[in-house]
Amino acid sequence: MKSEELFRKLLGLEGPWVIKEIKFDHQGKRVDIFMDFPRGSKFPCPVCGIPYGVYDTEERTWRHLNIFQYPTYVHAREPRIKCNEHGKKTVDLPWARKGSGFSLHFEAMVVEMCREMPVSAVSRIVEINEDSVWRILKHYVDVLDPIRFRQHEHGEMLI
Ligand SMILES: [Zn+2]
Repeated sequence: MKSEELFRKLLGLEGPWVIKEIKFDHQGKRVDIFMDFPRGSKFPCPVCGIPYGVYDTEERTWRHLNIFQYPTYVHAREPRIKCNEHGKKTVDLPWARKGSGFSLHFEAMVVEMCREMPVSAVSRIVEINEDSVWRILKHYVDVLDPIRFRQHEHGEMLI
């Protein structure tokens, strides 16, 4: 299996998304995965599901799970479509929820780690600030066991 195909599967990519390039920077100790879609690709309106061509894009980066010990970043042009009924909308991405700078896999890992250790420790280990960890938790807290994830007002430890 080619590495692009392997990563495509690992990231759960679907639709027109393809991996254009994977860069491993030994010096900078990081991995960068560049994704793109072919010209003429269509994406469904996130509200009504009707597919449209791309209206415009914005270059974005998402933090993904480390690959071995190397922090890994996903890069892509995030497309917007212009729906006849709903106007300009950012499309749903298979690897991240709207507005998040982290991949779904990364967020899932953070949530799992927070079951076992304080937010400050998670923040240190995954090398993102505590506010970001809390933002991730707050997003998922409704869908998680609310008793185990009841959080302190000033937020150090989850119970
Ligand atoms: Zn629509």
